[in-house]
Amino acid sequence: MSFRPRTFAGTSLLAFFALAAALSFPAPARAWGCEGHEVIALLAEKHLTPRALAAVNRILNDNPIDPALSRFCKDGRIDPMSDSSTWADDFRSVHPETGPWHYVDIVPGTTLAGGKKNIGKAIDKFCDPRESCLPRTAADHLAILRSADADPRTRADALRFVIHFVGDLHQPLHNTSNNDEGGNCVPVAYFGNLPIVTYPRTETYAPTLHGIWDYEILTRATKGMTVDQVAADLDRSFRKQIPGWQKGPADFDAWSWESFELAWNVAYGKLPVSILAETPQPVKSCADADHVSARMFILDERIEQPYQDVALPVVRERLAQAAARVAMVLNQLWP
Ligand SMILES: [Zn+2]
Repeated sequence: MSFRPRTFAGTSLLAFFALAAALSFPAPARAWGCEGHEVIALLAEKHLTPRALAAVNRILNDNPIDPALSRFCKDGRIDPMSDSSTWADDFRSVHPETGPWHYVDIVPGTTLAGGKKNIGKAIDKFCDPRESCLPRTAADHLAILRSADADPRTRADALRFVIHFVGDLHQPLHNTSNNDEGGNCVPVAYFGNLPIVTYPRTETYAPTLHGIWDYEILTRATKGMTVDQVAADLDRSFRKQIPGWQKGPADFDAWSWESFELAWNVAYGKLPVSILAETPQPVKSCADADHVSARMFILDERIEQPYQDVALPVVRERLAQAAARVAMVLNQLWP
């Protein structure tokens, strides 16, 4: 999701970004932001087998990204894998039907009757098979990547999707929604940067709860660092945990459920003003569900150091975990 595509359905992304730039807000556009996805790719590379790294580079170099595709992340072209990590969000802007692949709206209060073995059944309820959803499309694209007889171009795209979607699966707010597009319709003040309406027709604000989890919580903490340096820092910090996270199997549903729990325990759970679970209804923009963003704006959520202090360790751990698991999935293909 990142800014979920449906938020912008039929609108001019360019106009939004121009406005966002003019207002000096970072455009809240990407799952994990450019930095987050690039850090995941760069850290994953450090944990690939030589065979996996060679195979990945060969596939990506032999089937390059369409040069006509407009790329949102301009500075991260460090290598083919980090460049590929943000491709799916650009691809979505020209293929809106892939929008629902970037998230799954598990509703608050969902429980696992019968324990963790029933995660798949719980997620089934929130995944329309006609559109698919994040954990299921991740599995489908891994299957394409695994099939050696798939068309090379399709296989390269599947690899790019897998790298990206394992990242999205680890962003807590890509795995739930409270009639608010995963927190995209929850305006927040972030260290005094007050929320304002950026797109009146859809009642879109910035900053938002979703946006700060994509971008600001990480970028505030890593100011002045390159994505390479952030990846190296996470590698040092999580050296002990990474081997444990790499003990498979790849379980996209389970990773999604971890995110859902973190979303409610931390992202929503630690907000200064409590947000109640709503009765789910169809939401196509922040103007829906009785003007959800306007209702949330009134709560006057003010994110300051205490929230940053509980959120940042979760963001860092989820980035490192995503990287470890991207590497695991690829190493299983090319041991
Ligand atoms: Zn995404």
